[in-house]
Amino acid sequence: MTKHRAPPRRVDVEHFINTVANATEAERNARNELDYAKYESEYQAFSAAYEREECYLCGLPFKIIRSDRPCVHWLLRRGKFKKNDIPKIYETFPIQ
Ligand SMILES: [Zn+2]
Repeated sequence: MTKHRAPPRRVDVEHFINTVANATEAERNARNELDYAKYESEYQAFSAAYEREECYLCGLPFKIIRSDRPCVHWLLRRGKFKKNDIPKIYETFPIQ
């Protein structure tokens, strides 16, 4: 199975701060429950893929690196990763 996840979106920090500052306790609790459910779902996906020796982000086996699909799993160095490939990774997964 292969899948391709879009690169992470940038966070609008100012919008986030205003949203949190103006939220009621009930809204914050609801948001925390949604975040926890999202975290739990992502953790389960990560664990299941890791057991299969696959990357949960792109769906490829850890040993496979494809130059047309840069991914952070390359940093595990189970494939033939070269230091010149690092820019491809941070262009796909920018540090925020
Ligand atoms: Zn990957």
